[in-house]
Amino acid sequence: MFGAFFFDLDGTLFDSMAHHAQAWEEVMTRHGLSFSAHDCYVNEGRTGQDVIHEAIWRKEHREATEEEIWRIYREKTEAFRQKGETGPIAGASDVLAYLQSKSQLWIVTGSGQQTLFDQLDGVFPGVFTRERMITAYDVVKGKPDPEPYIRAWERSGLKKEDCCVVENAPLGIISGKAAGLYAVAINTGVLDDDLLWKAGADQVFKSMADFLKWLQEQ
Ligand code: MG
Repeated sequence: MFGAFFFDLDGTLFDSMAHHAQAWEEVMTRHGLSFSAHDCYVNEGRTGQDVIHEAIWRKEHREATEEEIWRIYREKTEAFRQKGETGPIAGASDVLAYLQSKSQLWIVTGSGQQTLFDQLDGVFPGVFTRERMITAYDVVKGKPDPEPYIRAWERSGLKKEDCCVVENAPLGIISGKAAGLYAVAINTGVLDDDLLWKAGADQVFKSMADFLKWLQEQ
């Protein structure tokens, strides 16, 4: 059994990706930019700033201004908030309950959405602490750069082979593998499993229930 599990948040523990995808699509459309819900899933894990840069580059072949980034990201945050609270991914609570007494449990997310942090302890009471969270505010470079998972590994005090990344997104898997860690993908979204294998996942599961079965066999 691994000594630590580094859980991604959106789409891995929280069933929030549909809300993110809708919020991005709405706000980008409002600004005349093309960025579909599917684009959102493929780009999941990138910072909001990177996503806005790419959408503006694609349309106008120029860098986004700081003002544009600030304005569009603020609108996206508000659109996401208006969609209301999101619940847990099916089976996530069972996995956390199984692991809680055995391993360190960390959150490693590119998200800076205050609404998600507020929900974390409500949805998974007593499982996570603020000290065991790496968020958008703790890193210079977000996923797919390895920095977020390297920060978690450094702070865990464990060997790399004792740490396991749990992700739903290809860029998150790329980040975890680039950090030199074992990486498990739970495919909770709309992408083909193939994208997760190609990103370098060591295991790909269809659901948290399948992941739990695998954990119980370790
Ligand atoms: Mg995710």
